[in-house]
Amino acid sequence: MNIPNKEIEKRVEGFIERSKDLGLKVTPQRIAIYKELAKTEEHPSTEMIYNNIKDYYPNISLTTVYRTLETFEKMGLISVVNVLYHAARYDANLDPHHHIVCVKCRKIEDVYNESVSYSNLKPELDDYEVLGYSVLFNGLCKDCSKTKS
Ligand SMILES: [Zn+2]
Ligand SMILES: [Zn+2]
Repeated sequence: MNIPNKEIEKRVEGFIERSKDLGLKVTPQRIAIYKELAKTEEHPSTEMIYNNIKDYYPNISLTTVYRTLETFEKMGLISVVNVLYHAARYDANLDPHHHIVCVKCRKIEDVYNESVSYSNLKPELDDYEVLGYSVLFNGLCKDCSKTKS
């Protein structure tokens, strides 16, 4: 589950490059926030990222983290995984993939499945130019279904 350092470095480098292309100022704080997201597959919320980062950026506020993530998302540097009835959760992994969320512990995991393809879904979206899609599954994870009773 741990992302190798090399991959994290690659993500951060790509982030810096894309930010420059987009005209977004690359500050150490922004890099730190991005890196927190890039090093995990847990699809953390704003608060999870804030809690990790405040140890070494004691002056940072939750609002700053929130606004920064929002800016990243608007510029397409990260994506947001929307979970009903829950705060936004973020993802630095921009490769096309889907998600499953545990309805009990709110764990989010990546789902890679090529049969979940646009041509198989055949949605009627003629009024739109579709730019992307992702499928969000929900269910009970292994740990939670053990303690279901
Ligand atoms: Zn669970
Ligand atoms: Zn993901």
